[in-house]
Amino acid sequence: MKTPVKMPKSVMLAGRKFRLGLSPKESFYGGTMGQYIPMEGRIALANEMPPEQLKSTCLHEIFHDLNNQSTADLSETHVNCLAALMFAVIRDNPALMAWIQDRE
Ligand SMILES: [Zn+2]
Repeated sequence: MKTPVKMPKSVMLAGRKFRLGLSPKESFYGGTMGQYIPMEGRIALANEMPPEQLKSTCLHEIFHDLNNQSTADLSETHVNCLAALMFAVIRDNPALMAWIQDRE
């Protein structure tokens, strides 16, 4: 059986390093499962989530950063939709992801 890949400790977003961490759900406001905290350079995810939801929520928080770094002015609904669609593209296309990541 394949060993699960561990969540990375950080993620690079437009040249800036953000720490990725797990926190108890009680520490999040408004019943959210993730928080994008640009002032602290980190993304916090609720540690009670199953792995697939954890990954999806991480991508959601990343989209909040992409929104912040652009002039897109996306709503929470837009972030939800785009993150879910991108999650599916990434999951459904491992060959595409390998090709994009290959630095010739
Ligand atoms: Zn959000």
